Amino acid sequence: MPIQQQRAPSPPMSTVVESDIDEGTSMHLHIAHLYPAQMNIYGDRGNIIVLRQRAHWRGIDVTVDAIHPGATVDWSRYDLCFFGGGQDSGQALIADDFVVRHGTELRAALADGVVMLAICGGYQLLGNYFKTHAGQTLPGIGALDVHTVGGTQRFIGNIAVTVDVPIAQRNCIGFENHSGQTFLGSGARPLGTVIAGSGNNGSDKTEGAQVHNTFGCYLHGSFLPKNPQFADFLLRRALERRYGHAELPPLDDRAEGAAQRVMLDRVR
Ligand code: GLN
Repeated sequence: MPIQQQRAPSPPMSTVVESDIDEGTSMHLHIAHLYPAQMNIYGDRGNIIVLRQRAHWRGIDVTVDAIHPGATVDWSRYDLCFFGGGQDSGQALIADDFVVRHGTELRAALADGVVMLAICGGYQLLGNYFKTHAGQTLPGIGALDVHTVGGTQRFIGNIAVTVDVPIAQRNCIGFENHSGQTFLGSGARPLGTVIAGSGNNGSDKTEGAQVHNTFGCYLHGSFLPKNPQFADFLLRRALERRYGHAELPPLDDRAEGAAQRVMLDRVR
């Protein structure tokens, strides 16, 4: 039967059963979206839309602040940060602002458990540095013990990864497009293992990096619309840190699950 017909009829905005929502909850998450004008390729903004919507469906309020160059930011206010991908040129525009203005305080907030998801160019700038193919060295904030070197080859295509985080469905899918090759130092562990595709550097089968609640990876797609189980994992981490507990009633993700299975079969 076509996937669409398998979906149970649902209200337009939500598939949560009303009684599953704790009416007494007044949970609120503050999300920071870093440099959305310079760092947003392959629809990375979809990650913000998914975080906001999946929280909203559970009755959780969300505020999203765009962090633009020159902004003064109190990072301790935030529960969750998102930093999308960008071209080398986009990264060069914001790298100094990011590192000089925010490096110390953001690093401290992340060490304190603020949740961060960074994709591709954003991931590279969370590392120690990114040396571009053109020979320019862009500083990173060193929140993840990784470094990136621009190569001659571009890694482009669908990617599937088994992520090393405590969720039931650990196989994630995405689309990668990067020439930077990322290498992990001893202080970072991979986010996961490549099933198909190139991952961090095309050679060691690692993909992404993680420490505390900071997660970097090369999965565009966008990542969270394709992998809602990872979106809920991030929301849960942020809620547990802020409120000490997190109730996230299940949503109807059958269509997303079916799409994941198709892609996993295709790339394997
Ligand atoms: N400029 C980086 C690279 O090509 C990041 C690209 C991206 O964010 N997709 O390696």
